[in-house]
Amino acid sequence: MGAIEIGLAALFGAIVGSFLNVVIYRLPLGQSIVYPSSACPKCNNNLKPWHNIPILSWLFLSGKCAYCKESISVQYPLVELASALIAASIIAKMGLTVQSSLVAVVFLLLLTLSVIDYYYKMAPDSLNLLTLTLAILVIFTPQDLLENFKNALLLAGGMALLRFYLSYYLFVKIRGMSINLKKSPWTKNYNALPRMVEAMGEADIMVAATMGALLGVKLALCAIFLSAIIAMPFMLLQRGKSDEEQRVPFIPFLAVATLIVYLLDSQIYRFLEGLYA
Ligand SMILES: [Zn+2]
Repeated sequence: MGAIEIGLAALFGAIVGSFLNVVIYRLPLGQSIVYPSSACPKCNNNLKPWHNIPILSWLFLSGKCAYCKESISVQYPLVELASALIAASIIAKMGLTVQSSLVAVVFLLLLTLSVIDYYYKMAPDSLNLLTLTLAILVIFTPQDLLENFKNALLLAGGMALLRFYLSYYLFVKIRGMSINLKKSPWTKNYNALPRMVEAMGEADIMVAATMGALLGVKLALCAIFLSAIIAMPFMLLQRGKSDEEQRVPFIPFLAVATLIVYLLDSQIYRFLEGLYA
């Protein structure tokens, strides 16, 4: 792949990232993502086109609104930069094809879901299901469609089972701590327990399905394992904090691990083959 193609992919990715920032801001608020054009949330002045250049505008304005000097979140240039890197790395790996473009879009949507999950500790089903559907549609032969769907189902099912195990473990732990719960039969309490006991959100299950469709079962399991390793230091940092603060958004870790495994798939396959040789 030539440097020019990769550079163009990065540029295109940064522009898409600029739009994703709008989606991240407006979708959870239930606002239209196409209208009106971007304005400063503080002073409501419309942004001029040169205030909207991905990454560069934020740097030139030193992270402040051009009108009221309200600081603009570093999220904006970071999402644009991440989008540029995602598009460039996928095109560098796969070349410019219909499939590679679709894969890049899936990863850009995973980025969007990650940032929303980071802020809200939940992710919109609309975006999550769109991501899953597009991931299933990444096919090279007609048979791939069924294969992708099957892998999505396997990962979603596996994640749902894991969720039952973890929730049960947390349930037993809480029950053990509380004398009140101990004395009454479990049938009285199981459903009455706070939602906190749910170890994973439904959004994680949909993302797992996307991972299955995109990576296949073996690599998707590697990616889930890798996401747990990356998440561990963050989880440990939350120890001793309140229950609400202890809830770490997990989609960012799943997304990062999925991208790493997708880019390094042949190396990981070789490593796995070495393990069983
Ligand atoms: Zn302003």
